[in-house]
Amino acid sequence: MKKFILLLFASFLFASVCNKSSINSAYKDYYKFQQQYISAILDNDKQNEIKALKGLVECGEFLKFNVSDYKQKLSKLTKKQKLKTKINTSKAKPDITPSNKHEKFSKYIKIYSYNPLKLKIPNNNIRFFTIKTKIYKKIIDLPNAIIHKAISKKLNNGIYLKIAQFNKKTVRIVYYSKNKFTIRYTLKNHILTITVNSPKKHTIKSVLAQKPKAYKPKSKVIVIDPGHGGKDAGGVGIKNRYEKIAVLQISKYLKNYLTKKGYTVYLTRNSDYFIPLKKRTHFANLKKADLFISIHCNIAPKHNRRIHGIETYFLSPTRNERAIAVARLENKEIKGLNYLDQRVILNFLNRDRMIDSNKLAIDIQQGMLSSLKTKYNYVRDNGVRPAPFWVLVGTQMPAILIETGYLTNPIESSRLFTSKYQRLLAKGIAEGIENYFRKNP
Ligand SMILES: [Zn+2]
Repeated sequence: MKKFILLLFASFLFASVCNKSSINSAYKDYYKFQQQYISAILDNDKQNEIKALKGLVECGEFLKFNVSDYKQKLSKLTKKQKLKTKINTSKAKPDITPSNKHEKFSKYIKIYSYNPLKLKIPNNNIRFFTIKTKIYKKIIDLPNAIIHKAISKKLNNGIYLKIAQFNKKTVRIVYYSKNKFTIRYTLKNHILTITVNSPKKHTIKSVLAQKPKAYKPKSKVIVIDPGHGGKDAGGVGIKNRYEKIAVLQISKYLKNYLTKKGYTVYLTRNSDYFIPLKKRTHFANLKKADLFISIHCNIAPKHNRRIHGIETYFLSPTRNERAIAVARLENKEIKGLNYLDQRVILNFLNRDRMIDSNKLAIDIQQGMLSSLKTKYNYVRDNGVRPAPFWVLVGTQMPAILIETGYLTNPIESSRLFTSKYQRLLAKGIAEGIENYFRKNP
């Protein structure tokens, strides 16, 4: 019996709890567990490793991350633990999983169709309003709701639909078009149905004016970091295309867009010369930058010509093999510090900054995709990923690294060297940055 009480105590002690009261709190816990996990591996502490893995799986599943690697590792470790337990006692462990899981998940909205838009929402209070800027916008806010991922659709007659998490508690539905249009909605038993009528002569009167959070672009400093340069060509792709050339051109366009919007912008290099990685981050810290944006082009493993797409990385310890492979490629300049040592440094990173970097990465990725898709097909979203990039370590502000495309893919590599494509990429990044500041002034 004494053994049983001890065991009970031990399971409470090692029970990992993920705070699932909001996406933000779950994010914070996820990164906390990620750091715990790395420490546990470095210390070879199996108990803490299990505890961290449980937390990662719990938070990760809540955040809809792919946690299959963590799960596998956890089941291997717990099998070993169970064997040990059986030797000690035959009593089973008590089930201490919280029973309110279902409640938390009901905040998620469920979409049945897009045109007409039919969805299940958590409560019957919605806010509807109209905005006329250069384009016509109809906005519906769903309070106390969560959506897994942002949705962007082109409907008929040049009307676009976007559904995304607007802030911690609100999901925002936006219809927009260059031409006037109207929408009608019905709401019954948590089922919201929205029909679009287009184009019509009259618009529904604004019932609530949008109150955008005030921020002054002029007060924001952005450092753009064109990767590589000089003796370091970066990736070399099809037809001997150098990464260092394309990224400098994209960075210069980006600087123009951001300057026009009123930001203060610096480039870590403005022509073809070499700068060591740590000087780039030092420069950003010196300029007291609010954001650090590092721009790169990718090379596929074994120069596979079929792989293509855009990825945005934010700084984080990671176990994703593909992200690690990219990080190694970008980090090859670092000598004398082995991979494990790099992980130790990453372990001490500021968690809140990682969360901001993650948010920034999401907005920029979305910005690039929307911008490119206005003129190009064959635009692939490879998503936002965590990666321990060296160039991002040491910055004191949210920092991200964009892989703008693969120089080993015939279509993407030639696009990356045309000014039209470079400009659209830059425009998308600039819009992503603006969106980020709008939400996080
Ligand atoms: Zn690079």
